[in-house]
Amino acid sequence: MTDPLSDLFSDDHARQQDAADPLRAFRDAFLIPRFGDVEQAYFVGNSLGLQPRGARAQVEDVLDKWAMEAVEGHFRGNSQWMTYHALVGEQLAEVVGAEPSEVVAMNSLTANLHLLMVSFYRPTRERPAILMEAGAFPSDRYALESQLRFHGFDPATDLIELEPDAPGGLFSMAAIEAAIAMHGPRLALVLWPGVQYRTGQAFDLAEITRLGHAAGAVVGFDLAHAAGNLPLRLHDSGADFAVWCHYKYLNAGPGAVAGAFVHARHAHTDRPRFAGWWGHDAATRFQMGPHFQPTPGAEGWQLSNPPILGLAPLRASLDLFAQAGMPALRRKSEILTGYLETLIHAQLDDVLDIVTPDEPARRGAQLSLRVRGGREQGRALFESLAAQGVLGDWREPDVIRISPAPLYNTHADILRFVRAVLHWRQA
Ligand SMILES: *Cc1c(COP(=O)(O)O)cnc(C)c1O
Repeated sequence: MTDPLSDLFSDDHARQQDAADPLRAFRDAFLIPRFGDVEQAYFVGNSLGLQPRGARAQVEDVLDKWAMEAVEGHFRGNSQWMTYHALVGEQLAEVVGAEPSEVVAMNSLTANLHLLMVSFYRPTRERPAILMEAGAFPSDRYALESQLRFHGFDPATDLIELEPDAPGGLFSMAAIEAAIAMHGPRLALVLWPGVQYRTGQAFDLAEITRLGHAAGAVVGFDLAHAAGNLPLRLHDSGADFAVWCHYKYLNAGPGAVAGAFVHARHAHTDRPRFAGWWGHDAATRFQMGPHFQPTPGAEGWQLSNPPILGLAPLRASLDLFAQAGMPALRRKSEILTGYLETLIHAQLDDVLDIVTPDEPARRGAQLSLRVRGGREQGRALFESLAAQGVLGDWREPDVIRISPAPLYNTHADILRFVRAVLHWRQA
């Protein structure tokens, strides 16, 4: 008799699954770092996505244009720099489920968070508070705390950090609802992650938006770990604004130009904003007049002409997202992450405790794995994995994050991870 579970651990099984994968060709569109004679099993696309092969050509295109056309590069051809940021707009809107006029690629994530808070965090004496999650990515907390202080309020009373109410640092929707109900009359802003970076928990953006709006607050999201990971429907969620980076699941390279969303209902807002010439109405920008007239939509929050070299790799990556499509990527992502989960439960339960929720609707690609036995054991395992060519990442005090990215990871990669853990356990 064959054990159906042991079959899941066979190379044949992994090979068959990968051969039947409709997205299998996309792996070849990426440069996979080497580990000796083989490729790494790279599970850190949630931190820095791999380089699309097409990225180099996009960057060289800009360098060539600069060499040959210099200042004229601003005005010549389809990829002229004057409108370069708009080349990514439609594909980006598709990835995050927005209208093209609702998204813009500009700056970096934390800079965009500040810029949008200038417009969408407008505290008053009666309503000064911000609700965020305790244990947020530090940059987000620094940004929110400093905005509060900038407006003359006290983070000790007005930065409300909701503690997780479920094991492993997870939040129930009921806890979020109760916090919004309790603080509602004082809330100026609810700022929540799409996917929590440490636990991998995914949130219902539409529901959080509904609750925040019902309490009279503005609602914004940090989608650093959600963009390119989950099929988002930002417009339909009703969120007021969102920000994200492009170097994680969106594979646009270290420090890549980031993204921002402003809901269409704010396209012509007269809220205050910090202005720069690239946010000025494109039709009259070069009349160089003294009075700022914002261009409607998200592009109206741009400050400067964008770093074209930093935007170039994003074009290569977004082409791949457009070809694969978020629904197909999500289908594969659920299969890969489910496979990882099944193998861990079958063989590694004594080593690893999965922190991330087990319902697919409450997670993206990433599983956060708490190493039983604590920090020292955890570090030893983490280092052993790296020494076996299996790359995850480490979060203090005892969590290894493993994120199979559906554009390039395979069942075979996941099998390598599981075998590497078994190897370490047996040693
Ligand atoms: C990755 C990440 C950041 C990084 O911020 P940068 O401004 O891009 O350096 C911030 N917040 C969250 C939640 C992140 O996951």
